[in-house]
Amino acid sequence: MWHASVLTLYPDLFPGPLDASVLGRGRADNLWALDTVDIRGFSDNKYGSVDDTPAGGGAGLVMRADIMAAAIDSVPRNERPIICLSPRGAPLTQARAHALSEGPGLIALCGRFEGIDERIFEARGIEEVSIGDFVLAGGEIAAMALIEACVRLIPGVLGSASSVEEESFEGGLLEYPQYTRPREFEGRAIPDVLLSGDHQRIANWRREEAEKTTRTRRPDLWERFLANGPIRRDKNKEPK
Ligand code: SAH
Repeated sequence: MWHASVLTLYPDLFPGPLDASVLGRGRADNLWALDTVDIRGFSDNKYGSVDDTPAGGGAGLVMRADIMAAAIDSVPRNERPIICLSPRGAPLTQARAHALSEGPGLIALCGRFEGIDERIFEARGIEEVSIGDFVLAGGEIAAMALIEACVRLIPGVLGSASSVEEESFEGGLLEYPQYTRPREFEGRAIPDVLLSGDHQRIANWRREEAEKTTRTRRPDLWERFLANGPIRRDKNKEPK
């Protein structure tokens, strides 16, 4: 079973939103599992502190490598990658979420304060992953985002697999716009083609809209799409 372990100073935040809707149902149905480790439990002092002042001076506090190591070493690894959520990490992508969802799970490390002593990353073979170019107060919401992106790709968690295949990023493009009833909303109509019943025309329209949206909103994705063509997923290979 796909298994996430989260190391955090705030274990009570979990499962939080990860227990809502289809993800919660999936966990109840044993499609995936979650546990947390309270990093504070590995403090070596009566105050329960896990951090200290930065070497070289400056503001804030840094989480100690020795305490993080003890917390990490308490978790059965089971061949799972250890991922530290960090604004300095590699940006999270849908391809990475796919690759992780096909593996045994992950061990997530949530930072607080100024972050974690750099030496821990090499010492424990930890990969750093960012959820975007902005700074959060802690890694917990980032870990939830990472886990949610993976878990919804586990077969059986979402109702139908086809709803995943056409989504944003899946083929290298953003998704086409979606509509539902009522047919008219505040004077705005659903595009005629979607009501035509002509599946080929609808598919063509959606394709054009996906390309147009990607080109105008995300020129970076569009350039990559033009250079590489549609993303193809090989079941036995990590997507690039
Ligand atoms: N001083 C650090 C920021 C620390 S923010 C810096 O400038 O790089 C505190 C913690 O929040 C981090 O250790 C990390 O776990 C989490 N965090 C903040 N922004 C994040 C992001 N964009 N992606 C993933 N984790 C993030």
